[in-house]
Amino acid sequence: MAAKIIDGKQVAADMRAELKAETARLKAEGIVPGLAVVLVGEDPASQSYVTAKERACEEIGIYSDDNRLPADTTQETLMALVDKLNKDPKINGILVQLPLPKHLNESAVLLAIDPAKDVDGFHPVNVGKMVVGEEAFLPCTPHGIIQLLVRSKVKIDGAEVAVVGRSNIVGKPIANMLIQKSPTGNATVTVCHTRTRNLADHVRRADIIIAAAGRPNTITADMVKEGAVVIDVGVNRINDATKKSGFRLVGDVDFEAVSKKASLITPVPGGVGPMTITMLLYNTVVSAKRAAGKKA
Ligand code: NAP
Repeated sequence: MAAKIIDGKQVAADMRAELKAETARLKAEGIVPGLAVVLVGEDPASQSYVTAKERACEEIGIYSDDNRLPADTTQETLMALVDKLNKDPKINGILVQLPLPKHLNESAVLLAIDPAKDVDGFHPVNVGKMVVGEEAFLPCTPHGIIQLLVRSKVKIDGAEVAVVGRSNIVGKPIANMLIQKSPTGNATVTVCHTRTRNLADHVRRADIIIAAAGRPNTITADMVKEGAVVIDVGVNRINDATKKSGFRLVGDVDFEAVSKKASLITPVPGGVGPMTITMLLYNTVVSAKRAAGKKA
């Protein structure tokens, strides 16, 4: 069986069109969603992520507030900026681009963000609400994965899912979302990591495989059940002399071989990646609606 591709670019484009229409409706009522982006230092990858986030805001009509600070910014200055943004009514979401330079206390900064503006969904208040099934900002990458599954009409209810990876930004939250007693949950989830014995045995049982290990070829065809749905979160650079850059991006899944067995599969790039920024925009629009006392 040749797998169908889950086109993350297309799903993201559809969602952004919906968000653009929603933003226009809100604007007509005088509500302009606002996202503040905070970048400390000149790391090129972080700069390009921040630029992409700001451009995406502009495209759909979200006001974006750019805060770029020098690499030697003190903890005090950064905390004061977060405090100012917490109090600014034009700002509905605050995103501090990680990683921060080593001399700064990252968790203190994330804790200082008002949970009502924590559109990354990393604040322990939002994490806790997510776990107990209360309304919360869901972290963007796992929330994007749920959207890909739902919009591809994958049956999550009752499915066996193998999540490979237990990070705070992907593995743990996606596992939590999938076990919720909710229309996008009710799955039976196994979470695997480097201490898992016999990874293949767990993955082979799965109707849905979510690979978030950050290692190329973690999931090979012999580990995949015929007809499984495969979501590849990994983004890995591998050397490729045929590319001008000298490298290309691959996921955690042996795409070519696995796509012959899976029923649906996400490519890298163009699968989960485009969804992450889209869910950030989504959370910002939701936050603006909540701040205006509207149902989100
Ligand atoms: P991370 O913090 O490095 O976590 C990786 C997890 O995978 C760890 O829990 C690790 O286990 C587990 N792991 C690693 N090798 C394994 C193996 N061979 N077998 C089983 N488990 C293994 O990474 P992350 O931040 O979650 O990101 C994972 C990948 O997704 C990366 O490639 C990252 O670039 C990508 N990513 C993509 C997006 C996107 O928008 N597309 C967003 C976020 C992340 P231990 O806990 O035992 O070490």
